[in-house]
Amino acid sequence: FLPHLVASLVQVEQTYIMVKPDGVQRGLVGEIISRFERKGFKLTGLKLFQCPKELAEEHYKDLKSKSFYPTLIDYITSGPVVWEGVGVVASARKLIGSTNPLQAEPGTIRGDLAVQTGRNVVHGSDSPENGKRETGRSGSIPDIVFLKHCFSCSALWFKEGELCEWTPAQAPWLME
Ligand code: UDP
Ligand code: MG
Repeated sequence: FLPHLVASLVQVEQTYIMVKPDGVQRGLVGEIISRFERKGFKLTGLKLFQCPKELAEEHYKDLKSKSFYPTLIDYITSGPVVWEGVGVVASARKLIGSTNPLQAEPGTIRGDLAVQTGRNVVHGSDSPENGKRETGRSGSIPDIVFLKHCFSCSALWFKEGELCEWTPAQAPWLME
């Protein structure tokens, strides 16, 4: 199957960006999404959502043994969140900055816009595997490869049909 073959030849990643309840409450949705847009990442899915407890627990299940886990679940389910599907995991983590906003570099989202770890305004997938788990999308051919295709798998946060597939007009001006 040709798209699978092409996908195995190029580095393909999805990341999952979440503006957390404090980011929504503080009116930072546009500011945070704007930073990913300006960087040149492609927005493939966006929704405003009230996160149920079960979903928050599944999302953060690796942190279940941590002392801050109960307050983390309370925090994430305390208000609406905005989910965003974009590309490139490690680069998005750099834009977001360190988990503790006091250690995050100026210029990063957390470095510029947050003070405390428990109110650090944004989430981003920490690996391509988790990007796949969290977006439900397992891969897409970069826009510069015109033979484009995406594969859906069981989605943690996005349902079938909630992610778009499109080619930004600026793609050839971002990627040579
Ligand atoms: N967190 C917390 N206290 C801590 C560590 C983490 O409240 O000591 C929260 C914080 O909101 C963080 C989230 O748990 O963003 C997930 O932790 P992780 O280590 O995965 O950090 P991230 O990947 O978000 O930088
Ligand atoms: Mg994490």
